[in-house]
Formats: sequence, structure tokens, C-alpha cells
Amino acid sequence: MAKRDKSYALRRLYLAKNESSSYTEVSNISKGEEAMKDSHGRVIDYLRISLTDKCNFRCIYCMPADGVQPMGHDELLRIEEIETIARVATRIGIRSVRLTGGEPLVRKGVVDLVASLHDMDGIVNVSMTTNGVLLPDMAADLKAAGLSRVNISLDTLDPEQFTYITRVGRLESTLRGIDAALEAGFNPVKINAVTVRRLNQDFLAFAKLSIDRPLHVRFIEYMPVGESTGSDGTGWDRSDVIPSEELLGIINERAVAEGLPELVSTGDDGKPIGWGPARYYEFPGAKGTVGFISPLSRHFCSQCNRLRLTADGKLRPCLFSDREIDVRSALRKGGEDAVYDCFLEALNMKPDDHHDKVGTERNMSQIGG
Ligand code: SAM
Ligand code: SF4
Repeated sequence: MAKRDKSYALRRLYLAKNESSSYTEVSNISKGEEAMKDSHGRVIDYLRISLTDKCNFRCIYCMPADGVQPMGHDELLRIEEIETIARVATRIGIRSVRLTGGEPLVRKGVVDLVASLHDMDGIVNVSMTTNGVLLPDMAADLKAAGLSRVNISLDTLDPEQFTYITRVGRLESTLRGIDAALEAGFNPVKINAVTVRRLNQDFLAFAKLSIDRPLHVRFIEYMPVGESTGSDGTGWDRSDVIPSEELLGIINERAVAEGLPELVSTGDDGKPIGWGPARYYEFPGAKGTVGFISPLSRHFCSQCNRLRLTADGKLRPCLFSDREIDVRSALRKGGEDAVYDCFLEALNMKPDDHHDKVGTERNMSQIGG
């Protein structure tokens, strides 16, 4: 049976077995097979794949001070297993994948994985979120392998504060990673900065990174991920969240005090490619943009298009919900058809909203932010 026919037949079979299923198919939104909608009518075409729970940093908002118990070798998905799961994912309409972690660049075989995902039928975009430390050695190879976009995490331009936040890192290493990404020709290069009130970061200095180089700075509200683990959490407190609207005001006030113009909205046309849930602004004449991602102050759940695959092979329909589907066991016991069923289950399980839930059992580094 042709690949497309088989996929369709399986889907019909699943529907017959599960009459209460409420996801629906939509046809031909892009190359390949049909994309599918979840039970709340959202098209799901984006998969974030965590390659490892390991990291060369231990950021204070991401993992506890002592790090986390590493996953066992057998628990971790093998590279070929990730490829198989991604291939099955294209059958429900996944078109874009983002590699994350932990730190994705510490995973052996990552460049080859990028190449095979890039070559995979149905996948139109492979991107990555990284702390940038290993980019000086790897950016050119990643670009040649077909990585299309890179987001680099950086929360401060102050060397001491950088080491405080990452617990072990050095500012120059991530700055060199940003240079390497630009030199390798990645476009856009986005900078992810988590904003934490008690850290008193210099937000204007950060926004100014977008003026002279084509860098797209995105401020992300500090999320309460990993807090249900009690003392193993990151110490998130609501008072540490700086709502994006307030942050925009802070940046504009400081900009004007320095004689700079205020940030203006880019409108939809000026947004960098792959804009996702951020709202974008720019300093007039700047080469890059400044974005605000507001998971807490302005939920974007109604536009959510994603599923997450953890490094130990759990499919996670929502970042804020601990409900996971064991796709690793499904693959090892039942093969591709069982994996396909896991994706259908994930579409059904996706909640309509995170409803301000505080805390998850796993930390961000274990889920793949
Ligand atoms: N190690 C890579 C990196 O730092 O870019 C990829 C994994 S990291 C978990 C992915 C993203 O999640 C990073 O941009 C990081 O800043 C963000 N992140 C981690 N913990 C967070 C939290 N509690 N709230 C908001 N963003 C968080
Ligand atoms: Fe590592 Fe990224 Fe988490 Fe920092 S945010 S500890 S770099 S996984």
C-alpha cells in the first residue's frame, strides 16, 4: 500500500476504534500529507524534540542547583528512534521540528540528525534552540546539514551576572556562539532572554543588541515549570514575573532617557520568519527586532500548534501539563503503527489552555523548553 494510503487507512481504523475521538483532519496545508487539528480545532504542525536532558550550564530558572538525575542510557531515545518518530509525526501533519534539550549540541550525532530530518519527506523546517557555547565549532556544519534557524539563549550582558544565572558559564562563550551563527549565515538569529524581576537585568542594553546587527531579541516571561518537585524546583515566585506590557514600558522609558526613540510595533509584515507566539517591535532603522513572549500575562494557547517529545521518549501535549504518552515503549513494543496511535492520543489530550497552572513534575531541561 502506498505510504499515503496506509496512513489514511490507519487513521480511519483509529477513528473507528475510538468513536469519542474529536481531532479532525484538514487537507493539504503544505507539502506532504494532511495536517490534523486537535480536539480544540488547532492545526498541529510543529514538534519540539528534546535530544538530551544533559547540559553544559545549570541555569537558575531551568534546573535546581544540584542539576537533575541524568536519564539512563536505555531511557534515552536513540538517534534512529528519533528519526522514526519524526517520520511518523509527518503523517499527522508535523512540518516543522525544533531540536532542543538540555543542550542539544552536546548530543552525539546531532549534525547527522539535522541532515536526516532536513531530507525527510514532509519536514519543511528544522530549527534549534541552544545556549550557543558549541556553535563556534559546529555552526558551519549545522548550516550545511540543513538547519534553517537558530535561537540562542542569553539573559544578560554582564559577565558576573551571566555566571550567576548559568551557575557555570562564561559570557564570552555564548557571545562567540552568536557571532558564529551570524557568520555561518543563519537568518534570523533569535536571542531568547528569560526575564526575572529579582535579577534586575539591563533590558535596554539587551534590546539595543537588535540595532546594529540582524539579531531578534525575544524577552520571555519566567515560567513556573518544574515547581511541583518541591525543593527540586527553581524557586519560581509570581513576583519574579515581569509582564511583557510592563517590560515594554520599562524599555521605552529608559530608551527615551538615553535619547533613543521608543520601540514601535513591526506589524505582521515586519516579523522575523517563524515568529511563533511573540509580538514584535523595533527601534526605527534597526537591523533586528525586539519580541515579547507572554505565556503568563497573555496566553497564546488558542494559537498553540505544537507537541513536545522528551529525550526519554514521552510525548507531551502541553508544556504545563504532566500528562505524557510513552511513545518510546510504543515504538519498542509495537513499531511505527503504535507510535502513530500515540500521536493521535496526543492530539486528543491537548488541553485548551494552561489555565495559569503553577508547577510541573519535570524541570524545563528535562522537558525541552
Ligand atoms: N539549552 C538550550 C538553551 O538554553 O537554549 C535549549 C534548552 S532550554 C530548556 C530552552 C529554552 O527554555 C531556553 O531559551 C531557556 O531560556 C528557556 N527556559 C528555561 N527555563 C525557563 C523558565 N522557567 N521560564 C521561561 N523560559 C525558560
Ligand atoms: Fe541548559 Fe538551556 Fe536549561 Fe540553561 S536553559 S540549564 S542552557 S537547558
